[in-house]
Order: sequence, then C-alpha cells, then structure tokens
Amino acid sequence: MRTVISIPDLRAAVRALKTHGKRIAFVPTMGNLHAGHLALVERARQAADAVVASIFVNPLQFGAGEDFERYPRTEARDAALLAEAGADLLFLPAIDTLYPHGKDDCTRVEVPALGDILCGAARPGHFVGVTTIVAKLFNLVQPDVAVFGEKDFQQLTLLRRMVLDLDMPIEIIGHPTRREDDGLAMSSRNGYLDADERARAPMIHAMLKSLAGQIHAGRDDFGALEEEGRAVLDAAGFRTDYVAIRRVEDLAPPQSKQDELVILAAAWLGRTRLIDNQRV
Ligand code: AMP
Repeated sequence: MRTVISIPDLRAAVRALKTHGKRIAFVPTMGNLHAGHLALVERARQAADAVVASIFVNPLQFGAGEDFERYPRTEARDAALLAEAGADLLFLPAIDTLYPHGKDDCTRVEVPALGDILCGAARPGHFVGVTTIVAKLFNLVQPDVAVFGEKDFQQLTLLRRMVLDLDMPIEIIGHPTRREDDGLAMSSRNGYLDADERARAPMIHAMLKSLAGQIHAGRDDFGALEEEGRAVLDAAGFRTDYVAIRRVEDLAPPQSKQDELVILAAAWLGRTRLIDNQRV
C-alpha cells in the first residue's frame, strides 16, 4: 500500500490506476480504525479493482466544544491495518491541504432538511461538514464506488442524496454495522468510555432490538414506543438526544404500513455521545 499526503501525489496515483482501467472503490475514515472500518475495506475490495482509503479528522464536522482535539489519532497503526486489509492507496492529508483558505471560508455542500433532523438537530452544522468533506474527497479520488457504514445511518442517507442531487457518478454502498460480542456498535469513540459506562453501553442496541421486535409483533404506536425506548436509556443513566422511528427511504416519520422502518438513537454516557440504529 502506498501512502500519499499531497493532492498532486493523490491525483497522479488515481490517474495511474485509471489509465490501467482499474475501477476504484473508496473508503473515507477519520482513523483510529477498528474491525468495522476494515469490513468496509473488505467490501470495497469485492466492489472494485483498487481500494483507496483516507484518514482525515475533519474539523468542519465538529462543533464548538465537541471532541475534535481529543479525537484519537493513531495513523501508524491505522496504515498497517489498512495495508493488511488490502487497501492499495492511503490518502492522509493535513488540514491545510484540504482547507487552504481555512475551514470557515470553504465552499459548503449542504443537503437541506435531511441534514437538520436527528443528529443534525443535536449537532448543528455537523452534516454540512460531512457532505462538504466527502464531496471534496470524491472530487479528488474520483471513485466508481464508495463504501460507508450503516452505523452512521443518517450520514449514509444524506450521502446517497448528495450524489443524486449533484449528479456524481458514484455508487454508494452501505455496509452492516460491526458489533462487539455484547452488541455495542464498534466506534472510535467507545475508547472514551470508562469501565462502568462501557458495561452500560450495550443497552442502546438491546433497547433498539426490543423496539424492533415489538413493531415486528404488530405495535404501531410509534410515539409511545419512542418514549419507552428513551425511558429505558434514561433509567440506565444515559442522557438521550433522541429515539426515533423513521422511514428508511428519507428518515421522515412513518406514513403508511408499507414503509420500511429504521429505529435510530443517540445518547450520551458521561462525556461520550453514542449512536446506533436498527432496521425493522
Ligand atoms: P469514521 O471513522 O467514524 O468517520 O467512520 C468511517 C466509516 O466507517 C463510516 O462510513 C462509518 O459509517 C463506518 N463505520 C464506523 N463504525 C462502523 C461499524 N461499527 N461498522 C461498520 N461501519 C462502521
């Protein structure tokens, strides 16, 4: 695996792959890689001839007072894991490389409405940061396909919408969430949890599965179910941002019996914000 840090080197490497007729799959990350990220690389290998990964802790998607400064940075270990997983090229840019005029003056890409609900309501500006950086990375890497985790379900929905709206010729593949043995969705932020919080964290997944089971069994009083889910988390010591039952298609509230549903939750344990979701 080759690592490049500059835009000219990345463009040259991409051009070389393309002139050899290779289909490119792209896996963008913020690093501190775990088995969930590596599963995306594996999926990307199946989807194309060459896999490009990136590691960039994107300051534009962090709000004031969020964990940008303390977000774990483990590039050497990450590069070794990516090489082992079969990535061909790693793009590891510095902040100035991607925001030469500073992040605040950067042209933005915004998906309205979808970016303002759920996590977007709790973290204003977050998804503009996500769609802007992913659009920039797509322009640089020019992938044929890009693989994202269903763990970040709202992000995946937004990115599907962005490529449609901006006519980007890129197939977006969603990949299932990798979990620890006790059900906790793998996340770079799980490392923030102390022992007591870590023991309680799998409650989010258990709650989501329980709600999904009840919908499956015929309950359709979604408002009451959301309240019950929130009460379970609150009783376990979480500070809950939301528990929401939504349509898979556009994350709007369910409107008909035919709607495919997903239950999404975001909740804080101490200083750590955890998210998870469960398709019904
Ligand atoms: P991040 O480094 O957190 O920005 O995540 C990079 C990519 O990995 C995103 O597409 C995430 O959705 C995906 N991802 C994160 N955690 C998991 C997981 N537990 N299972 C599958 N994909 C994941």
